[in-house]
Amino acid sequence: MMVWMDGRVVPEAEARVPITTHAIHYGTSAFEGVRAYAADGNLLVFRLADHLARLRRSARAYGLRYEYSDGQLAEAVAELCRANGLRANSYIRPFCFAGEHGVKLDPAGAQVVTAVLAFEMDEIYPRGGVTAGVSSWAKFSDRSTPTQAKMGGNYLNSAAAAAEAGRAGYDEAILLDMAGNVSEASGENVFVAKGGRLYTPPASCSALEGITRDTVLRLAGEAQIPASVSAMPRSALYSADEVFLTGTATGIVPVLSVDGVELGAGPLASKMAGMYSRLVSGGGGHPEWLTAVY
Ligand code: PMP
Repeated sequence: MMVWMDGRVVPEAEARVPITTHAIHYGTSAFEGVRAYAADGNLLVFRLADHLARLRRSARAYGLRYEYSDGQLAEAVAELCRANGLRANSYIRPFCFAGEHGVKLDPAGAQVVTAVLAFEMDEIYPRGGVTAGVSSWAKFSDRSTPTQAKMGGNYLNSAAAAAEAGRAGYDEAILLDMAGNVSEASGENVFVAKGGRLYTPPASCSALEGITRDTVLRLAGEAQIPASVSAMPRSALYSADEVFLTGTATGIVPVLSVDGVELGAGPLASKMAGMYSRLVSGGGGHPEWLTAVY
């Protein structure tokens, strides 16, 4: 596999960092997960500009500044996809991190390494749906670290919740915020469908404002499905008509049960998933969200 690192496309084995790298010790990396979908012999990257804008905002929250413009990083992504000959559905990971910076914590002023990975990857969950359990770990709050910054260190919270879910035999964890309201899954946003309406928790419940979440809210609006961003208690998960997850790696996946309470796959998740898959393969409008690699 070829990777892009600080302006050059190099074999993976050559992309190395020193053991003293700040991000290894303190989690001071910002990252994105982006998807590219095979369509008509081309490869279409979905909402690349929005992902690169979020990467910059994440890094900025910690004073990490990289020298590449979003335009340069978008070109790096396309160049790397071509260098790896990607033609099938793929995952792209642009990221940056504090490099050698001694043992002091404040990463401001650190040398920043910028890199991109791109490899073939299909859906991570079965399309038919997943089982979920509510985690005993609370989602970290914005009073602890910025919840909208996708930093490597933040993902210890997700890793702990995912590990607990796995041990309990669930596919995924749903985390509650510090006040006990539904926040999000370990790597996806949560939607509840009830009475023909869609609901998803707000950023104030420590949910990441996911790009897929935003896409679903936009598509719901276009399909005249009422959708609102609102706080919901844990029990809303059990009394829902449907629950589904949204995320770049996952797409739109129904939650078949929460804590063993059966929900099953429902019509709204299926409708949104259908609209989403048409959209990402170029047949659902919004050409401004698609970047052709070839
Ligand atoms: N929440 C968390 C914790 C995530 O890691 C992700 C994946 N980036 C999401 C939500 C979904 O965000 P997006 O739709 O932008 O991928």
